[in-house]
Amino acid sequence: MFYILFLIVVILESLWDLVLNTWNMQYSTNPASKIPEVLKDKISQKDFEKSKRYLKDTTQVKIVKTIITLTTTLIFIIWGFPYLEKLVSRFTNSIILQGLLFFGLYWLINFIITLPLKIYSTFVIEEKYGFNTMTGKTFISDTIKNLILYIVLFAPLLSLLVWVLSIDQNWWWKVSLVVVLFQVFLTWIFPIFFAPLFNKFTPLEDEQLKKKINKLFKDANFKVSKIFVMDASKRTKKQNAYLTGIGKSRRLVLYDTILNYPEEEILAIIGHELGHNTKKHIPKLLIISFIFYTSMFYLTNVVYNFIKNQHVFDVSKPYSLFIYAFLFITSILYFITPILNYLQRKFEYEADNYSAKLLGTPEYMISGLKRIVKENLSNLNPLPIYKIWYYSHPSPEERIKKLSEQGK
Ligand SMILES: [Zn+2]
Repeated sequence: MFYILFLIVVILESLWDLVLNTWNMQYSTNPASKIPEVLKDKISQKDFEKSKRYLKDTTQVKIVKTIITLTTTLIFIIWGFPYLEKLVSRFTNSIILQGLLFFGLYWLINFIITLPLKIYSTFVIEEKYGFNTMTGKTFISDTIKNLILYIVLFAPLLSLLVWVLSIDQNWWWKVSLVVVLFQVFLTWIFPIFFAPLFNKFTPLEDEQLKKKINKLFKDANFKVSKIFVMDASKRTKKQNAYLTGIGKSRRLVLYDTILNYPEEEILAIIGHELGHNTKKHIPKLLIISFIFYTSMFYLTNVVYNFIKNQHVFDVSKPYSLFIYAFLFITSILYFITPILNYLQRKFEYEADNYSAKLLGTPEYMISGLKRIVKENLSNLNPLPIYKIWYYSHPSPEERIKKLSEQGK
């Protein structure tokens, strides 16, 4: 009985994702759809048509990916996990090594299966729209670095997990505590240690811009003066800027692709990032994720004990019981995605609002947004329910409307 319920939940998750993506694609690319009034001055009919084609192409890749991932997951649930458990048990008696091999193989198989799609979306789709600047060489070295990084980061974490699972019935709060501490650790170490493995970070050279950014920092009571330019252009033409790190690793990172924007727009975008900082969005998100992880691991713990005692699946080791329980709970929790995104969208409005106040006018944030929308071929008319479900940022139209209201 539980077995059937399990399969239904896992399938429903993918099915709902497929419905949303297909529906959104049809809705947004509908010939009757129009350029939103607020964007008409910057977006031409030609840009609009191009953004629709881009949406169609990227959605098709997403749909194929969901179907492939669902098929693989179902094969693993029905046959793969019990088989893998027997396989790794033959290799070694150590439960921790078994667990590492088990998770490692599962991850590797998923990685290999989705790799062709990643290559296709980078070198065919992104290339077609002029976004991709990555060479084959960069792609391969990125892939290898990622592989090593995953092993270095996750092997200790997973060893700890398997160990706690095998000695403690009530492992949920310990695991969630470790995961959140790990997240904090990553935020601290990522900018100084990992990001430089993939990109070059050079201090901002433009003295005039630097002066203006520092003034903005001062106005926003932001104590850090490290400003780096990242060579994002070796992978993509898309633009971005972000604040990252904790304590000594704190810094502002500007993509080199954004530097040809008018100065005021760059400042407005930085103002937005400073808004996230001043409004304490990062610690708030950390608390939310702690609550989320704790409930997720608590529920996983309940299901874990249930399938262990009821022998629902043909497995008995802690790591394989865990993966079943974990898959089941994450499929259920997928249905609360809209709540988390609702909170994030609220934060985005707050940051936009802050930027407009800091610069004294919403004008530059609005023109910056319009430029990003145009150059990144953003979807101009997302399906409302798709927006509610998946958008961590409000749509450009909504953001501009809200900012214009503020200017009045
Ligand atoms: Zn933001």
